[in-house]
Amino acid sequence: MAEIIDGKKLAKKIRQELKEEVIKENLHPRLAVILVGDDEASKIYIRNKSRACEDVGIEFIEHILPTNTTMEELLELINKLNNDNEVSGILLQSPLPGHMNIKTAFETINPEKDVDGFNPINIGRLEMNEPAFVSCTPYGVIRMLEEYNIDIEGKTAVVIGRSNIVGKPLIQLLLNKNATVIVTHSRTKNLENYTRQADILVSAIGKAKYIKADMVKEGAVVIDVGINRIKGDVPGKKVLVGDTDYSEVSKKASYITPVPGGVGPMTIAMLMHNVVKAEKLKNK
Ligand code: NAD
Repeated sequence: MAEIIDGKKLAKKIRQELKEEVIKENLHPRLAVILVGDDEASKIYIRNKSRACEDVGIEFIEHILPTNTTMEELLELINKLNNDNEVSGILLQSPLPGHMNIKTAFETINPEKDVDGFNPINIGRLEMNEPAFVSCTPYGVIRMLEEYNIDIEGKTAVVIGRSNIVGKPLIQLLLNKNATVIVTHSRTKNLENYTRQADILVSAIGKAKYIKADMVKEGAVVIDVGINRIKGDVPGKKVLVGDTDYSEVSKKASYITPVPGGVGPMTIAMLMHNVVKAEKLKNK
């Protein structure tokens, strides 16, 4: 039976360490969050981030803009926050309304305040293995492996999914840690031929219970990034599950992350980490 990688507990520890650092170093980190429109899921994400900020001692400044905000107005706000020395980090909540260009918006965020790691400068820095702000979910995955003393160097790591926010930065992070990385995606044929080779298998697909035990090597480390809402036992109530069929895969893996309570809490903890880091860089 696999050892559970407890993301919730680890995230709590990281947040506590950050809180102590903020007090000890007399830091005043501030996160400016921009939400355009009234996407319900985004509001929940922002609420969770605001609670985490409060917990760590990060001031949380919300900028809620109406759906009909123009691109010029959004860029004007981003530039204002870029130039505001009181602001440590800027987070632009996606998705943006259809008339807006999210690529341009991320490109406009000052790379030194880009706590989500979505600005192309930070993506390039990561690619070149230089200090960078790294996208919080893949960064959280690496931190989990490190905290559980799981060797990455020389290991075969298989990443399923190649999105800009999870799969691609994770591929680079694993490569920078000297793993042999195999990238798979929706057009990959015979996925199981690759997943069965994985010492470390990371799934970021978004398909409930897609990874079955026969796709996993005995003793593999399985990191499940997927978040899927499916019908539960209680009528009308949905439950969260990952991409892996947890009950069967956990019998074969050496380590596994649960959903919920795995990668999710780590994503927020790494955002907090990035904001504190941005504040420290600003003061240098
Ligand atoms: P995405 O839709 O942008 O990308 C999904 C990727 O999966 C694509 O690259 C696609 O090629 C690949 N894919 C789809 N079907 C596949 C298949 N059958 N076989 C192999 N590959 C396949 O999604 P994303 O933003 O990268 O998110 C992926 C999952 O991770 C989602 O469930 C999302 O909710 C979750 N997520 C979780 C966190 C967290 O904090 N835990 C953060 C971000 C995303």
